[in-house]
Amino acid sequence: MLTRGVRQSIAYGRQLSSEATRRVTLIPGDGIGPEISKAVQEIFEAAKVPISWEPVDVTPVKGRDGIFRIPQRCIDLMHETKVGLKGPLETPIGKGHRSLNLAVRKEFNLYANVRPCRSLVGHKTLYDNVDVVTIRENTEGEYSGIEHEVSPGIMQSIKLITQEASHRVAKYAFEYAKQNGRKLVTVVHKANIMRMSDGLFLNCCREVANDYPEIKFKEAYLDTVCLNMVQDPSQYDVLVMPNLYGDILSDLCAGLIGGLGVTPSGNIGEGAAVFESVHGTAPDIAGQDKANPTALLLSSVLMLRYMELNRYADRIEKACFDAIADGSHKTGDLGGTGTCTSFTRDICARVKDLD
Ligand code: NAD
Repeated sequence: MLTRGVRQSIAYGRQLSSEATRRVTLIPGDGIGPEISKAVQEIFEAAKVPISWEPVDVTPVKGRDGIFRIPQRCIDLMHETKVGLKGPLETPIGKGHRSLNLAVRKEFNLYANVRPCRSLVGHKTLYDNVDVVTIRENTEGEYSGIEHEVSPGIMQSIKLITQEASHRVAKYAFEYAKQNGRKLVTVVHKANIMRMSDGLFLNCCREVANDYPEIKFKEAYLDTVCLNMVQDPSQYDVLVMPNLYGDILSDLCAGLIGGLGVTPSGNIGEGAAVFESVHGTAPDIAGQDKANPTALLLSSVLMLRYMELNRYADRIEKACFDAIADGSHKTGDLGGTGTCTSFTRDICARVKDLD
């Protein structure tokens, strides 16, 4: 049984497929997910992006063993397309997490989470000069899931840091910096306290930094970065760090530019990547045409750059930023009076003008 969002998306996918050259798995998601996914599809159509969408329903299905898993079709499709765009998914209260993120992350070893945070003209925040990219190790650290009860009242969680994963994410950070014209990579750590685990992460970053003499390399403690980031974010550029620190610091940076509603993200693996908005399903405004599609749209811009479709990425990004700067149709969360529909139309018109 397909959800409404998937059915809508299939209709759009068919419209596009005649001129399509590359396939992308689309997970429209729940709540506002279908609305913002539709907005992205319309904008891609206006920009004539040469891709076709492959919408897929990820509602977990119960296996013979009684365990709910995401449909195999989703994993198969990701294997075929190698690239996915994902809207927010509801986490049913008391029923545990929908395991899509975990399943896809494991299947495709999505080892780096990338979140660019740039101040938006037309959306006033504390600073107007934020332009940082957090790169978070996505597979280990405190989130390795190794925990146990030592004895009643005493629990232990293991922080796992490996040379392989640390080296891989450090390499990704420097390559990202190089390919995106960035000048500085800062490794964020607590090797003064966790000498062995963070020490290994830090050493891997130092080693990789030697291979990129053209990019400046700095080392900083997590607490110092938090303090400096809220006082003067302009001193940072690309930041690379272990999993837990990245989870927290990336939200702090998102807060500096106006929150999760405008922050894109990408999960990069070996040969596959999934791009997603980091906000939730916004059940309070779902179905009311109030959703802001910016985070998912900017995630799709990251996706286009990953696919080396930079020409389209540049046009869509400019149209989106210009629409926010103009403000006539921006959505309520950005202080405007526009709707998801009017904001999307505005971006579509601007994209066409840039053609
Ligand atoms: P939320 O992000 O859905 O909403 C928080 C507030 O931000 C709400 O007022 C909402 O209206 C607003 N908001 C969020 N995105 C917006 C957008 N694009 N445009 C305009 N306003 C927006 O957080 P929540 O209410 O804590 O979570 C709701 C559901 O989403 C839960 O089931 C949660 O588990 C799930 N969730 C999913 C993801 C994901 O799939 N990546 C992330 C976070 C939360």
